[in-house]
Amino acid sequence: MSIFLDESAVSVCRVHEPCDEVSRAESACELRFLVGVGACVVESDVDADASRVRLARVRERIEVRTGIASARRMKTFVRDGWHATDDLPEFADPLLEEIDTDGMFKGHVRYVVLTAAPTHVDDLFDYLFRRLLNHVLARYQLAESVDVVFERAGGRTLSSYERLVDARWARARVSMWPKGDNMLSLADYLLFATLRYAARAEQLCPGEECAIAHVLPVAATAEFDASGAPLAVGHVHKDDRWHKMYFGFLRAMSSVVRLRSPTAAGQSELS
Ligand SMILES: [Zn+2]
Ligand SMILES: [Zn+2]
Repeated sequence: MSIFLDESAVSVCRVHEPCDEVSRAESACELRFLVGVGACVVESDVDADASRVRLARVRERIEVRTGIASARRMKTFVRDGWHATDDLPEFADPLLEEIDTDGMFKGHVRYVVLTAAPTHVDDLFDYLFRRLLNHVLARYQLAESVDVVFERAGGRTLSSYERLVDARWARARVSMWPKGDNMLSLADYLLFATLRYAARAEQLCPGEECAIAHVLPVAATAEFDASGAPLAVGHVHKDDRWHKMYFGFLRAMSSVVRLRSPTAAGQSELS
């Protein structure tokens, strides 16, 4: 089995949409900062190969479309593939359709919600990666081989990633792949969709009068109407764009857990 991982952070303002202050650490607005890591798990090499072939086809179809051939994004798309925060609908939608109809992977996300901008965000990512990997690797103790794949990013070294894998899982082979791999793009997208949906719920929450738990549905917990369409839950309306994006991943999602921020990282936190 293989695990493809990604990390991301988003922030929202509970007062304004859009908000000019949302990316500022010091702001008078009521901001929420969501920091998370995501995993796309494929259980067999056969599934991984099949996914690769299908995604490569989707990517090629986008690359030869003349209507968007001049788009500035196309140049980096051809080189690096999908990237959720940069992709306009003409790049994102074909991928999302493919996932919705034929997702042969399992998605896992761990995240925290903070009321102040994280000061040690890399420590927080490490903590979340450890939590996620312990959960996923425990499930696949009997797998023939275990590959843990991170995206090559910033000043990260292979050994800094290897340290995130607990000694219990010594068989796991850790590697760093360059940006542009389609399976890493899936991890990027499912994390983006999850954090955006969770952030939207924070934004729409009435606060103290809120009577519901902010728990995201996953494949095993989702409820469906008579026509087979998944039912919306919580604060986010079914016509909301972030609802649509997250629910496109719903059938592939295995676990989405909001964790308390570790006090070691020195973060304020919501209980
Ligand atoms: Zn604001
Ligand atoms: Zn609420």
